[in-house]
Amino acid sequence: MADVTFSQRANVLIIGDFNVGKSTLINYQRTKQFDNTIVPTIEIEPSTINVTVNGTNMIFTVKDSPGMKEDSIKYGRFVFPEFQNCAVIMFVYDKTHRPSFDQITYLKQMVDELVNRRMECILVGNKCDIATDNDVTFNDGHERCAELNMDLFIEISAKKGTNVEELFCEAALRLKNMGLEFGSTKELHKSENNHKSCQC
Ligand code: GDP
Repeated sequence: MADVTFSQRANVLIIGDFNVGKSTLINYQRTKQFDNTIVPTIEIEPSTINVTVNGTNMIFTVKDSPGMKEDSIKYGRFVFPEFQNCAVIMFVYDKTHRPSFDQITYLKQMVDELVNRRMECILVGNKCDIATDNDVTFNDGHERCAELNMDLFIEISAKKGTNVEELFCEAALRLKNMGLEFGSTKELHKSENNHKSCQC
């Protein structure tokens, strides 16, 4: 721990509808186990996750958030201010529940409106262990990622652990060379923010 500098800390916010598996995802990455007894998230809940990539230890403060009810004032009060303080936002949807996928568009628009800093926006399709061909497909996710100008798309199973480690490692890799201040990315001039390319 002694050689870990402050610049290697980053805040990660996890957002998305109710029941998409946000808490399960965080729990799996922390414990490498699936826990079916997770209680609903009522407010922002931070936990610490260590990820080592290419010999560098990244300390993530991962913030779980409650699901959004439409036009929820409480959601805006609790979650929107968190947009400002993070380096990564993981937008999670449930592959078996299309409304949770549709909600991502609104959430990304809110982030674009409220945040003026370079951050990594990752689209995460969860529950790939039970999704069928009739659910939200890989192509749907891939296209939405490009449409919304997000940085990465990945499908995971927070129950089986599929791609969970990969998700956090990819986030750490992308942040490694990004200038971080107090766990979040530096503010941009308005014009700079419109040039994020999709790397997925
Ligand atoms: P949150 O409201 O987004 O935090 O969702 P939870 O983490 O509480 O998960 C909601 C439900 O989905 C729980 O019953 C979880 O056990 C289940 N769940 C979460 N992730 C997965 C997954 O990858 N696959 C399956 N089959 N179920 C999952």
